[in-house]
Amino acid sequence: MAEQLTQASYVLATILFVFSLRWLNHPKTARRGVGAGVLAMLLGVVGTLFDPHIVSFQWIAVGLVVGTLLGVPLSRVALTAVPQRTALSHAFGGLAAGLVGTAKYFLWLDEGVLTQFRVGAIVVEVILGFLTFTGSLMAAGKLQEIIPTRPITYRNQNLVNLSLLVLAAVCGVVLVARPELWPLYPVIVVLSLLFGVLLIVPIGGADMPTVIALLNAYAGLAAVAMGFVLDNKLLITAGALDGSSGFILAVIMCRAMNRSFTNVLFGAFGQVQTSTAMTTQKAYKSATLQDAVQVLENASLVVIVPGYGMAVAQAQHRLRELYDQLTKRGIDVRFAIHPVAGRMPGHMNVLLAEADIPYDHLVEMDDINPEMPRVDVALVIGANDVVNPAARTDRGSPIYGMPIIDADKAKAVFAIKRSTNPGFAGIDNELYFMDNTLMLFGDAKAVTGDLVRELSGQASHR
Ligand code: NAP
Repeated sequence: MAEQLTQASYVLATILFVFSLRWLNHPKTARRGVGAGVLAMLLGVVGTLFDPHIVSFQWIAVGLVVGTLLGVPLSRVALTAVPQRTALSHAFGGLAAGLVGTAKYFLWLDEGVLTQFRVGAIVVEVILGFLTFTGSLMAAGKLQEIIPTRPITYRNQNLVNLSLLVLAAVCGVVLVARPELWPLYPVIVVLSLLFGVLLIVPIGGADMPTVIALLNAYAGLAAVAMGFVLDNKLLITAGALDGSSGFILAVIMCRAMNRSFTNVLFGAFGQVQTSTAMTTQKAYKSATLQDAVQVLENASLVVIVPGYGMAVAQAQHRLRELYDQLTKRGIDVRFAIHPVAGRMPGHMNVLLAEADIPYDHLVEMDDINPEMPRVDVALVIGANDVVNPAARTDRGSPIYGMPIIDADKAKAVFAIKRSTNPGFAGIDNELYFMDNTLMLFGDAKAVTGDLVRELSGQASHR
């Protein structure tokens, strides 16, 4: 009976995990998706507690208390710290997989019940688990800037890294053939831990969100291997979902940045950019607030393109007020969402949702682009790379081929940023020098606030 309860809860949890991922696809259903994921995890844990193989609940209780004590503060971090918090979760997942594999290997070694299949599954679990552990810790450290965010590179780095992984795999293969050769086991562990560190060291801090999605996939695969070790079907299905969704997310992010996996992992591209781009002295045209307000008031379709600077300035609530002011005047206002605007997937969606901007006014890049030629005003707020036309036209540009939001095709463009500094890719943006572009220099929150004040002032004078 207990066994049936466990299996039934696993089936239900798997279904909920699938629906959770499905619902997370859209902002409208995302909360339901999170709820379903939480419920699935709860079912998985409670269902496991019915497992007749459990000999004592004492350590499980200790684990629950420790996990809760760590989890509660981790759930309270600021939105901007979510990428590093996620990296820490992956680190814990990887460590758990590695430790479970280690415990099982030595237990079964003692009992003399190690089969080649079991050792094979343990080796995969332990390599992926431990490299995810140290790799994710490094990623979290880079994002938190505890360790240098710039890529640390040296000659033949990729060769050294690859050799470590191959060596660990060779030790694993020998161990599968001769499971009793236990001294190989710590060698595999140390090589995997080292590989995790060296894999992340050459990658720049700004590429970490993509790397974290990839580490998520590794953690999922480690869980799948753990499922085979423990003969636990929920770990296999949930791990496979986790692994594949992490991988798909990494692919989407790479595509949206027009980067290949190898470029992210071995390219040392995402170094902290210094403002070196403005070599040519082109003239910006600045607008006054009054100019901007006048043009905005006469528009019928306005598209706001938010980017990293909007997030830095925390301008989302001012944007909501601007949206209110404009829609009050019968102006159609949309928000154009680029898949890699900001520094993490969904960065803009989350911030705009926080300010209660209606979801149906958030339009994905592919849907808004065909509309751009009939847009009266494109208001670019702290976005740079994601609206840079060089991505379409300049073959020599590092962002060539990256899909962008075609703000340059709008009838008029206002761009809010603080200075002439470039964005993440460290390059000039032709958009700012175009005839139909006017700059509103200043902090995104302050300038948007001024626009709102100006608009509401005019409204009260009517
Ligand atoms: P971006 O290219 O980094 O440009 C952001 C702009 O915001 C800068 O030019 C900066 O100019 C301005 N800014 C900064 N603080 C500001 C403030 N307080 N007020 C007003 N403006 C401010 O950002 P993006 O257009 O969003 O593009 C994202 C980039 O990050 C892409 O290259 C993407 O590939 C990369 N990336 C994204 C992800 C992801 O998951 N979303 C992950 C990794 C990398 P000033 O300094 O002059 O103000």
